Amino acid sequence: GVKKREVNVLVVGLNNSGKSTVVNKFKNEEERVAEIVPTVGFSVERFQNQNLAFTAFDMSGHGRYRDLWEHYYKDCNGIIFVIDSSDRLRLVVVKEELDLLLQHPDICNKKIPILFFANKMDSKEALSSVKIAAALGLDKIMDKPWHISASNALTGANIKNIQGIGMRRP
Ligand code: GDP
Repeated sequence: GVKKREVNVLVVGLNNSGKSTVVNKFKNEEERVAEIVPTVGFSVERFQNQNLAFTAFDMSGHGRYRDLWEHYYKDCNGIIFVIDSSDRLRLVVVKEELDLLLQHPDICNKKIPILFFANKMDSKEALSSVKIAAALGLDKIMDKPWHISASNALTGANIKNIQGIGMRRP
């Protein structure tokens, strides 16, 4: 039969930013879910929603598992980058990881869209998406379509609008 074209969406960010909660908003009851743990300490969550294949993992652990997570960059068609907007202390770490991602040979030459979720917008400590965008230097991203949206993954507010940046089902 005709193979459906698959769109691979990477869901990345530091641990505790809300990736699993975001990913759960895209799941339907009947979705097959696979939790893969290739090695102790690094886990990858993958599932398929019609033609959208989601792969989520933490960019944490002092880059100990960098080789494992960079392996997923090759086939990626779009990125959802989740940021805990209340975690001001780690915003510099977020920027470091974002810069490494954008410079990576399997990412830097691709015009893939990036959607940033300034998540936990409900938190009293949360920085606005404008402040997060400035802190991360998003205005310097010229070669990829990107968008930042404040989100609340617990309620799903502003989460399901990934079509807005071109991550449509083909
Ligand atoms: P992950 O490690 O990036 O996958 O993060 P999780 O999805 O496990 O979320 C980490 C914690 O943050 C959990 O306790 C979530 O319930 C909580 N959380 C996720 N999104 C939000 C949000 O938008 N607002 C608030 N207040 N908490 C959130």
